[in-house]
Amino acid sequence: MHNFDPSIAIQDYLVFGEFGDVNPSITDSSTFTFLSPEKMEESFSHEIEGCFLYSRHWNPINKYLSNALARMEDTESAQVTASGMSAISSVMLQLCSSGDEVISERTIYGGTYALFKNFLPKLGINVKFADIKNLSEIEGLITDKTKIIYAESISNPLLEVTDIPSLGWLAKKHGLKLVIDNTFSPMIISPARLGADIVVHSMTKFINGTSDCVAGCICSDSEFVHQLTDVNSGSTMLLGGVLDSLRAAGILKNLHTLHIRMKKHGENALYLAENLEGLGIKVFYPGLKSSAYHELINSLMNRGFGYGGMMTIDVGSYDKASSLLKMMQDEKVGYLAVSLGYFKTLFSSPAHSTSSEIPQEEREKSGLSDGLIRFSVGLDNNIEVAYNRIKKCMIKLKII
Ligand code: PLP
Repeated sequence: MHNFDPSIAIQDYLVFGEFGDVNPSITDSSTFTFLSPEKMEESFSHEIEGCFLYSRHWNPINKYLSNALARMEDTESAQVTASGMSAISSVMLQLCSSGDEVISERTIYGGTYALFKNFLPKLGINVKFADIKNLSEIEGLITDKTKIIYAESISNPLLEVTDIPSLGWLAKKHGLKLVIDNTFSPMIISPARLGADIVVHSMTKFINGTSDCVAGCICSDSEFVHQLTDVNSGSTMLLGGVLDSLRAAGILKNLHTLHIRMKKHGENALYLAENLEGLGIKVFYPGLKSSAYHELINSLMNRGFGYGGMMTIDVGSYDKASSLLKMMQDEKVGYLAVSLGYFKTLFSSPAHSTSSEIPQEEREKSGLSDGLIRFSVGLDNNIEVAYNRIKKCMIKLKII
């Protein structure tokens, strides 16, 4: 375990509003005035500290949120985007041109999989999917066209933990960029400190925490953020996936409670995981001592934020999974809904929702079976109540 505390890094970032406001003003402007045409011209050639050109490029509130996120991920810089997918697609299109190759973990979020499998090839970018645990398989796929190794720090939905230091070493050895999606484990894992070059997030999830907007971010060195925002060649600037400033202001406020929320999500998920495992249910959760990833996550994680709010179980068949999902919603365990990181518990069947973009054959190869139920465990004050309700449903449906 590491002693880095991302919450202190964020806490120490004090931003004063125009009148000393503790919450900086929401930027209510798409464009900004200049005192001279020369300064305006200069701002097109490079970013001028404290000077803003146009909100699709930068604006003050997006800058404040980006700076706070860079502190959290301990990177030099960051940029916020309109969604997690916008962050991922902007990174891929900034680093790859037609003819280039990417090596990606096989079990990733279904939307990212569809982008890699169906969309990037239309632009001549070929993605090879591999078992991210198998370093020799990955090294064997590297060619002189490879630009990126891509993985999720904790994968969706099987919660496999990625060995970021080994992948970072491999990427460095071959001059590649290691891109890590850290959506499932903000605060818990700091990929850039472990060897990742670029960290992306869907802030729609834990970082914002209230399931009221879609947002993303890219954390990296300053050089890459300058490339992304270049007015002539930057993918975030030119593809235009900018985050709305009203949303940026809300997320910045919510970011300051993220450490407390992550601890509680993790505490509740561990309680459910241990107790459901005790009932004989197959549970995927890296915090379990029986998990194949327990030792690895212990070696990667920052101390004090738990093992995360995501937990997956296998109830054997899609029929049983569907009945349980419906009954759990009726019994008020939470909502039958995709997405994650909300204050209430959300649950869904990955094979028939968030991972349905992955073909059955690929799903079978990676153990993503039809009977899986993925939980995003909420912030319940007394998680025992939810556990008893789940148990009652399982008894009624003869799952236990
Ligand atoms: N990465 C992961 C791990 C996700 O779970 C998701 C969405 O579910 C995304 C990226 C995409 O993010 P967004 O929906 O904000 O575009």
